[in-house]
Amino acid sequence: MSVRVRFAPSPTGGLHIGGIRTALYNYLFAKKNGGTFILRIEDTDQNRFVEGAEEYIIEALNWFGISPDEGPVQGGDYGPYRQSERKSVYAQYAEQLIADGNAYYAFDTSEELEAMKARLSEARVVNPNYNAITRSQMKNSLTLSAEEVQQRLDSGAPYVIRFKMPKHDDVRFKDAVREWVVFNTSTLDDKVLMKSDGMPTYHLANIVDDHLMEITHVIRGEEWLPSAPLHVLLYESLGWKAPVFAHLPLLLKPDGNGKLSKRAADKMGFPIFPLNWTDPKAKESSVGFRESGYFADAFLNFLAFLGWNPGTEQEIFSLEELVAEFSLERINKAGAKFDIEKAKWFNQQYLKAKDVKQLAALFTADLKQELSNDKAEAIVNSLKERVTFVSEMAEAGGFFFERPASYDAKTVRKKWNEQSANGIAKFAEAIGQLDRINPEEAKALLVTTLESLELGLGQVMPALRVSLTGQAGGPDLMEIITILGPSEVAERIRIALDTIDQ
Ligand code: GLU
Repeated sequence: MSVRVRFAPSPTGGLHIGGIRTALYNYLFAKKNGGTFILRIEDTDQNRFVEGAEEYIIEALNWFGISPDEGPVQGGDYGPYRQSERKSVYAQYAEQLIADGNAYYAFDTSEELEAMKARLSEARVVNPNYNAITRSQMKNSLTLSAEEVQQRLDSGAPYVIRFKMPKHDDVRFKDAVREWVVFNTSTLDDKVLMKSDGMPTYHLANIVDDHLMEITHVIRGEEWLPSAPLHVLLYESLGWKAPVFAHLPLLLKPDGNGKLSKRAADKMGFPIFPLNWTDPKAKESSVGFRESGYFADAFLNFLAFLGWNPGTEQEIFSLEELVAEFSLERINKAGAKFDIEKAKWFNQQYLKAKDVKQLAALFTADLKQELSNDKAEAIVNSLKERVTFVSEMAEAGGFFFERPASYDAKTVRKKWNEQSANGIAKFAEAIGQLDRINPEEAKALLVTTLESLELGLGQVMPALRVSLTGQAGGPDLMEIITILGPSEVAERIRIALDTIDQ
């Protein structure tokens, strides 16, 4: 049987970055096994539906280059891929569960449910739930007579369908990440499967669709582990084979203290969403990782390591390499710290390795002024070791565009003296004769100029750098000289000599 996996988000708002990690692991597992990666939109909860959320999810997957093989956009043989368009599919399975004694109609009003909860809380019952014990005191097809049930159904009285959770059974299943997992049903409640509006709940729709879409592996976040025993029981009750479950470790705050949340991320000043997101109701806008300057490939590499590792020292992996290396066995159980510094490190590694032409194009798109390709490439080449994001280049390389407005005081105090001033003055004269220069020629010219004055490079370089850039440190000085060009270099040195010596 070929591998079929799905990413099944609910379009209830901006997709958290953890959702992308889940999608990525599904994608990697599918591709590794020559299988199919499916996107299914779980939008049965009309109250939580958020306009634009589905488009956002699709755009985010596209940006990361992990688009599904089947889904609302691509279509496929198992569609529709939006649960709201599959409404008519679910009722028959709920009916089947009732007919087999695994589910029942419940007619309780919300007041009656409230009263039950209040009663149980008062009696200090730990789980004041609708369950194997309390159901016997409620209005449902297990307590009412068959005639009365029929009458209520015929009269159109509102009802839900609940799962009849066994009273005291162990449910065991083998999770691909956690090994054997056991839940006792006495801790579980009679979950609603069909709501009074005729829509299925997540639980029913999820397992019916996983079955009909022939999903072989359910790879999802750990927050769904408590729902898994119900899902296992539903598969059993419907006489279906359950897929393999793999529950992924939680994403934790950078310090490992608690779950990564939007609030935590906001507080620490980094994004939680892959792309910019504006909540259409609250009108609240959040900046995405994309717009913060992260590269999709770098960020995906970072995400891959949040809960998985290849078992070697290698950290930089292309998507193809991740596909080749990925396995469910190497996913950790323990929560993964979302270390934003590590995300930056990955970005920097990728930035350094990127094609200079591509970086130059990004850089010039950021700039407010015209720039030749050659110059843009030379500038990004000189800066790429020194920044984490392309967006930092304009500032880091500001001196390429503007003459220094001031000179680093410490360098001037410590390194500016008569000799160094003499040295750079002579260099300005020499270089001023030329039309153009390259780094090697610049170096040679500087060395010969200084030799005639019996000065060493070290005595003059800091003064030269500060005259050209205003700064104490920065990219390779010979590259800077090349990019600025001989006449600008000579001019900046003259200005520095005038300004600093006053
Ligand atoms: N709709 C669920 C979610 O939003 C899917 C959980 C699952 O993958 O089973 O995450």
